[in-house]
Amino acid sequence: MDLRSPARSAADIAAILFDKDGTLIGYDASWGPVNRELAAIAAKGDLELADRLLHACGMDPVTGHVKPDSLLAAGNTVQIAEGLLAAGSPCDLADLTRRLDQLFTEAAGKSVAVTDLKAFFARLKGRGYKLGIASSDNEASIRGIAKRFGFEEDLDFVAGYDSGHGTKPQPGMVLGFCAAIGLPPHRVAVVGDNNHDLHMGANAGAGLRVAVLTGTGSRQSLATDSDYCFDDITGLEGLLPLKARL
Ligand SMILES: [Mg+2]
Repeated sequence: MDLRSPARSAADIAAILFDKDGTLIGYDASWGPVNRELAAIAAKGDLELADRLLHACGMDPVTGHVKPDSLLAAGNTVQIAEGLLAAGSPCDLADLTRRLDQLFTEAAGKSVAVTDLKAFFARLKGRGYKLGIASSDNEASIRGIAKRFGFEEDLDFVAGYDSGHGTKPQPGMVLGFCAAIGLPPHRVAVVGDNNHDLHMGANAGAGLRVAVLTGTGSRQSLATDSDYCFDDITGLEGLLPLKARL
C-alpha cells in the first residue's frame, strides 16, 4: 500500500465506482489481441499500415506494450476511431466506430479478470457498499462482462461512454452514480488504472482516488493524482471500513 495523501480518509467512503479495463479486467491478457484485430480492421488488412496505426495509438506492435494514458489505454471507441483515421486509416469514421464497438462487445467474451470478481463484489456488497462501473467502453460490453463474471446483481450503476453521462475525465459518470445511489461525491471512491479515471474523480469531488497497477499505468505515471496505489483492486478491502456507513 502506498499512502499518497494522509489528509484524505477512507473512513467516509460508502460507495465505489470502478473503471473496467485494466481495473476489473487485466489489460494485457484481455486487450493485446483485440488491439491487433482493431488495427487490422482499420488498415483494411494492410499489415504494414496496421503496425503504424498501433504505434500511433500507443501500442508497440512488437512487444505489445501499451503506453500509459495513450489512446488505446484510455480512449473511448469514437476517440480511438478518430485517432486511427488521423494516423492514416482509409475507413469511414462512423463505419469504423460501429465495427470497433462490435469488436469490443465480442471481446467481452474473452477477457481475463484480475481476481474472482463474483466473490470480490459479493464481499463488498456484504459490507454495505454501493457499487458501480464507469468505463470508456460501451454499456452493452460492460453489462456483458458483469453478467459473464456473475456480479451483475451487485451493481447499483453502470455507465459507458454511450450512457449519457459524458466521457472521462468529465465528472458526469461519478455524478450520475451519486444521483443513482443518493450519496454525495465525497462518499465515493473512484478506482482506475489511468489518470483520466483519477482526474474524473478529482473533477467530481470524489472522496478518494485509488489507482491500480493491473492496467497500462505504472506506479510512476499514477503517483501524482492518486491517494492510494495498489497492485490490484483487492487492496481496497483492507483500506475501506469493515461496514459502510450509509
Ligand atoms: Mg482502464
